[in-house]
Amino acid sequence: MPEFHSTVLLVDDQNSIHLALKKMLAPADDIQLHFCKQARQALDMAVALQPTVILQDLNMPEIDGLDLLHSYKRCEAIADVPVLILSGTDSVETKAEAFRQGADDYLVKMPHEIELLARLRHHTKAFVEHQERVIAMRQLEQEKKKLAVAYLELERLASIDGLTNIANRRHFDESFAKEWSRAMRETESLSLLMIDIDCFKQYNDSYGHLAGDECLKLVAASLKQHLQRPTDLLARYGGEEFVVLLPGTHARGAIKVAERLRKEVLALQLPHENSVAHDYVSISLGSATVAPMLKHQALELLQLADKALYEAKDGGRNQVICAGM
Ligand code: GH3
Ligand code: MG
Ligand code: MG
Repeated sequence: MPEFHSTVLLVDDQNSIHLALKKMLAPADDIQLHFCKQARQALDMAVALQPTVILQDLNMPEIDGLDLLHSYKRCEAIADVPVLILSGTDSVETKAEAFRQGADDYLVKMPHEIELLARLRHHTKAFVEHQERVIAMRQLEQEKKKLAVAYLELERLASIDGLTNIANRRHFDESFAKEWSRAMRETESLSLLMIDIDCFKQYNDSYGHLAGDECLKLVAASLKQHLQRPTDLLARYGGEEFVVLLPGTHARGAIKVAERLRKEVLALQLPHENSVAHDYVSISLGSATVAPMLKHQALELLQLADKALYEAKDGGRNQVICAGM
């Protein structure tokens, strides 16, 4: 028993051909024969039946056999179904033309039963296997898409800070290296702000660690909200420290941004009764800018911003200090 079941649609205007083939194929349990006498209905019938092989006459009164062949191939629902021409014409030109028009095989009436069976089974097998390959390919494409989406999500998760939902240190380090190279290449200014919450140890001591975490989230959200350029990058640098990368921004611009961030965090009005800096949660900021002409190292920019931040702390907190480079 062949491994695939054949559904054959015979398109022929002669009942006698149908009867002859019916008799010929009757012993083959794996082959089911359907008959279409009106060629004009052949396309609709094929779409409804979804045969594994179309067995079709060439000379029919209603329609040109080659035109009909064309219409199958243009119809997406059955375009891949193999078409075996069963014609009374044995001319090589007609055969060649049929193959040119998309026929998959050609038999002259009446073929020997063994040959017809062999060809029908062969085309069914090739068609079914082709369909299976198409389905497998589609599934593979879908899996690939899902994997790509999952990978992007993984990348995103690997680069954000779980508590504050802003970029993490790893993301910052990568972006900083890239922006540094770009600033050097394009001789652009690059500014950096180091930010630290004032007296945060006391905040935790006064209100508890959970409240401390909430405070970190609110401060991070405020910082993020008040950065304006899409290229500005805010990251959690560690503990209660944040860093802001400001590409294409000169020193005066950086100070402006820093002042805005400082005011906005204060404007959150988060009570901090044990702070020496203010009644509300405040931040200190150190700003540093690398000018394109000077040959600095990336690390220097970080160190300068950090030093400026310490000066801001020393100077009484809740303020911005700009490092001179
Ligand atoms: P300063 O004004 O000089 O910055 O003082 P400070 O208390 O803010 O600085 P210090 O470095 O002494 O303490 C930082 C504190 O931040 C220590 C720790 O309790 C707190 N902290 C760091 N990370 C987290 C966190 O993820 N959640 C909470 N709740 N607290 C944190
Ligand atoms: Mg700190
Ligand atoms: Mg602090």
